[in-house]
Amino acid sequence: MGFSFRAMWQNKCPRCREGDIFIKPLNLSKPLDMPHSCSNCGQLTEPEPGFYYGAMFLSYIIGSWLVLLPTLFLVFYLGMNVEKAMLVAIIWGLIMYLKLMRGSRSLWLHMMVKYNAGLAKKLENSKVDHQKEWKPRQYSN
Ligand SMILES: [Zn+2]
Repeated sequence: MGFSFRAMWQNKCPRCREGDIFIKPLNLSKPLDMPHSCSNCGQLTEPEPGFYYGAMFLSYIIGSWLVLLPTLFLVFYLGMNVEKAMLVAIIWGLIMYLKLMRGSRSLWLHMMVKYNAGLAKKLENSKVDHQKEWKPRQYSN
């Protein structure tokens, strides 16, 4: 399959869906720190300079709807007053902030890099082979 929402949501590499594309654990002073490449398959996390400018637009579009829709719901459906609804919107925005920043980068990378099922299978097999068949080398004189 082409796109995996699960891999995107979990910030996994789009090519092998195994390696992480962000450095764990999350460092609050550097929330967007990414390793140079995927630890599992070697896919570059920043394929070219300025690659994530597009993610900025995604983050803006998604973030706007994510705040606007609940706010409209609170005001027009539940009849909350506007000041209270704004406060809720701001708090909601702060809660979503980190997930949205990382998520939009992850989504952008997943939109640009294809899943490589053959490669993922090959990497999986090579792991199994190493565990099963590795033996210390026997030297004889
Ligand atoms: Zn990978």
